Amino acid sequence: MVADLKALLDPAQCRRLVVKVGSALLVEHGKARTAWLASLASDLSALRAQGTEVILVSSGAIALGAARLGFAKGGRASLADAQAAASVGQVALAQLWAEALGAHGLTAAQMLVTLGDLEDRRRYLNAAATLERLIEAGAVPVVNENDSVATEEIRFGDNDRLAARVAQAAGAQGVLLLSDVAGLYDRDPASEGAQLIDRVEGVTPEVIAMAGDGSSSGLGSGGMRAKLQAARIAERAGVALGIVDGRRDSPVARLRDSGIGTIFLPVRADNARKAWLGGRIAPEGVLTVDAGCVEALGRGASLLAAGLIEVEGAFQRGALVSLHGPKGERLGQGLVEYSAEECRAILGLQGSEQEAKLGYAPRAAVVHRDHMVRG
Ligand code: GLU
Repeated sequence: MVADLKALLDPAQCRRLVVKVGSALLVEHGKARTAWLASLASDLSALRAQGTEVILVSSGAIALGAARLGFAKGGRASLADAQAAASVGQVALAQLWAEALGAHGLTAAQMLVTLGDLEDRRRYLNAAATLERLIEAGAVPVVNENDSVATEEIRFGDNDRLAARVAQAAGAQGVLLLSDVAGLYDRDPASEGAQLIDRVEGVTPEVIAMAGDGSSSGLGSGGMRAKLQAARIAERAGVALGIVDGRRDSPVARLRDSGIGTIFLPVRADNARKAWLGGRIAPEGVLTVDAGCVEALGRGASLLAAGLIEVEGAFQRGALVSLHGPKGERLGQGLVEYSAEECRAILGLQGSEQEAKLGYAPRAAVVHRDHMVRG
């Protein structure tokens, strides 16, 4: 188990590490920061030499492509611009990594994934198998979102959450987000007296309140909120996540010396399937339940139709839905046993009344506890 930020670099505590590189570090005025990149590649080669298995999640495609195509706003003025910029920039990005890692005898392996690839269990396991095979073969996977085909509704949009999901898929013990901020501050880092928080155990509402919103740089799309969402995905999967300022050369070596940044320690490790479920980020509907049901769910019960008071969305059986209490508070999420239409038909009904409505024997629950995660 990872005990602190520096432990991410200790293969005895973190054998497999995902390193995420933000656009703001890799690209400046539309050009790649090649000297910085070379220093990072050297850091990564040192990590590998000491026995750490490294996976990279690299942003930068949109920023690089936008510069080449002459697009405004770093290619983020519209989805169509971002998609076109990513197509151009990804070619350049892959080449940059192939060269930087190649200089240390390392083989870069490009993997482009969409949100859907990791939301669907079968495709998720497939991506996991590819990562495993690449690492076993000695390559360094360089992962990015497949931005040129991802549409607004079904994209990560930020590589922070993607990095946490990849860590989970790869069975990594840690994620290191190299960012343009030093970590999480207790208030807006620009305001007087802001303190860097070096250690977080559990992303609670108080922790989320510290983050404010917005991205600190114009190039990336992460911002602290996305980083906290990434930390939540990671903590559920038993993965530690660090945020450090990676702007200066040799960021990993610097971390080894300074230990400065924020570490989010995992507070629990759900089983692999539940961690996958909890890390899914695109629910198709909302089920609102009454106070009695909130209490029952708190005791680990399944969600029954009797406790259901509202159904939002149009979804099929098996869809991911968000679970809310009567005041709209989020309770968790799970896979629903009925379509939205059927949920509405049996809302509030006891088991015996459900059969008459449905015309068939009802299922044991609307969301079974085995297919539900809290939080
Ligand atoms: N996938 C995007 C890119 O390659 C970056 C997303 C992000 O900024 O986190 O440009």
